[in-house]
Amino acid sequence: MDKEIFEFFNTDLQFIHGVGPVLASKFDDVLDGRRVLDFLLHAPYYVRPREILDSVTNAQVGDTITISVLVKSHKRGGMFRGRRHPTQIVCADKFAAPVTIQFFNVNYLDYWTEKLPIGQWRIVSGKLDYSNKTGAIINHPEFIETPENAYKIPKHQAIYSSGEGLTQKTFSNVRDQIFKIIHERIATLVISPRMLEFIDALEHVHYPETNDDLAPNGTYMAKLAYCELFAHQTAIAINRCARREQKNQRPIRQKKYDLIEKFYNVLPFQLTNAQQRTIDEIFADFQKPVPMMRLVQGDVGSGKTMVAMAVAVKMAEFGAQTVLLAPTDTLAQQHFAKLAPMCEKLGLVCDVLTGRDKGTIRNEKLISLRSGRTKLAIGTHALFSDDVEYKDLGLVIIDEQHRFGVAQRTAMRTKGNNPDMLALSATPIPRTLSMTVYGDMDISIINEKPAGRIPIKTSKIPMMRVNALIERIAPQIENGAKVFWVCPLVSESEISDMTAAQSRFEELNKRFSHVGLCHGQMDKKERDKVMNEFADPNSKMHVLVSTTVIEVGIDVPSATIMVIENAERFGLAALHQLRGRVGRGSKQSYCILLYGNNVTPDGLKRLDILCETEDGFVIAEQDLMIRGVGELLGTKQSGWIQYHFVNYREHRDLFKLAQMAAMNNNSEDEFWADELRQIFGCSVTAGA
Ligand code: ADP
Ligand code: MG
Repeated sequence: MDKEIFEFFNTDLQFIHGVGPVLASKFDDVLDGRRVLDFLLHAPYYVRPREILDSVTNAQVGDTITISVLVKSHKRGGMFRGRRHPTQIVCADKFAAPVTIQFFNVNYLDYWTEKLPIGQWRIVSGKLDYSNKTGAIINHPEFIETPENAYKIPKHQAIYSSGEGLTQKTFSNVRDQIFKIIHERIATLVISPRMLEFIDALEHVHYPETNDDLAPNGTYMAKLAYCELFAHQTAIAINRCARREQKNQRPIRQKKYDLIEKFYNVLPFQLTNAQQRTIDEIFADFQKPVPMMRLVQGDVGSGKTMVAMAVAVKMAEFGAQTVLLAPTDTLAQQHFAKLAPMCEKLGLVCDVLTGRDKGTIRNEKLISLRSGRTKLAIGTHALFSDDVEYKDLGLVIIDEQHRFGVAQRTAMRTKGNNPDMLALSATPIPRTLSMTVYGDMDISIINEKPAGRIPIKTSKIPMMRVNALIERIAPQIENGAKVFWVCPLVSESEISDMTAAQSRFEELNKRFSHVGLCHGQMDKKERDKVMNEFADPNSKMHVLVSTTVIEVGIDVPSATIMVIENAERFGLAALHQLRGRVGRGSKQSYCILLYGNNVTPDGLKRLDILCETEDGFVIAEQDLMIRGVGELLGTKQSGWIQYHFVNYREHRDLFKLAQMAAMNNNSEDEFWADELRQIFGCSVTAGA
């Protein structure tokens, strides 16, 4: 009945009026996919009122304000004495207090002077900044309107968490287009009442009037959260049943070669007990007649890659192939660089395949996979392109599991005959939740780190002491230390983020000889190049300034210092992940959390937890208790199952309700449950 509406849900965003392929690709970092549905499932997180102010004096720096100003003069920017100056439009508010509007991209002066002509009143809306020289400043206002057109500035603006290259205007335009089409369809199609209700809830959430509309327990948010949990729980229930019932899904593999002993001999270190226990649990799964579905949870640095390697070697003993799937090119290359020499010693053919491989080289790799010669294939989802075939794919290992969508999982399953699945995740999900969240998977926990790790020294210091910090780390850099310097992506305004990382880069570049910069607006190749140069132990690049695009799981053993600016904006789990990028070598490592002026007492308390412990489980539990997941930056990297509407803390009761409803699922609900599973991408894995 709802087929046509699903058709629209599944439309690629690039076909939405005003979007196109380039803009659509920018949504990749923000949404789970590029469909209309992926957009709809991305709720705004905040409502910004935009009442028009007369006076700038009472507003706080950092606030987004909307104000009437009279344009006084134009100052063209450009390069003067080797420094970049922004273009400035000098204005005054109704009480003659100065307000300067600044544009950093100085090439469009004519465009802006036309929008802000001298002697005229304009309504501008943007984030308030301040300098002693000019007074109030608004950089790149989001709205500039004539007084007659002031109505074009929304009174309640829904603010979406965004990514680099996407403005809030883009979000609202896309949203308006999508709901316009939905209304057209609703008018002409037969749509089930439950679907109508669901769409109605989505619409309320995308056009919120107050922040209560977006609160987890607001009527519509709670409704959507329940739908999402119900979808997820019914999938778990079905999978669990099916797995229990289908006993002889596949023959148990027989050993053909001896490799594992050799593997233990070439290992450069002793496995930890936890690694060994996990490996044993997995080997036991191989002796069962049902395909493995196992999740390995191990804190950053607990040595999950070596577990993956051991398991791949075991598969090779059976003569079968293993795929190790990494979320990014860089990570795939890194795994390959680490594992290929070991494979060589074992006489095992290992290869890497990513989107970068083209032409003959790619073809040769494909032939080797098809013939079964390649036993361990490391790569990105390029490994599941249509033309990639396997002789006998026995095992799929997914590193940093949460980054992969359902579509990819289905693709994987079709490449082999019900291959075993092993997911590696750095998310220490509190045990209280793992049953409901990962109900259809077996879980192994690596709760131990390799011996000899020196605990990372973590400290928090205010942003204003940043110069002292720079001087303190300078001698260490001279001694060869490598530094990650992370600037946050302010989730809604990509311009100021860029400036944050960019200006920090420029500053550090003056102080140190060779600094790298990495952000989401660079193309992937360039980003990889910088990242690889930083990772190279012989390179002179000692400082890498980046936004949060810095890879989950990247391994730079010589990096010993991690600086995180505005650490208070991140989730604890995300900070913990970032911190895990250092402390991997034999030297003492440091993590410095810089906090801004606006930090709250609670924010400081959260940072204290990080200073006190390195135990990922403790941190995850605290993260959950203090703020709930999903409200802070970096939750994507934090590894919790990324629900769209569910708040782990606020919706704890809903988890239970949905679980009970899923278990008693009656046939009346089945149709709707099935639609919800489609909406939320909860795949029914067993028997597929
Ligand atoms: P993660 O669990 O975060 O993926 P990695 O697999 O990247 O961790 O391992 C982190 C580092 O620890 C790597 O450099 C790896 O070679 C090393 N390592 C793994 N297992 C051990 C061990 N048992 N003893 C010593 N070092 C180990
Ligand atoms: Mg890893």
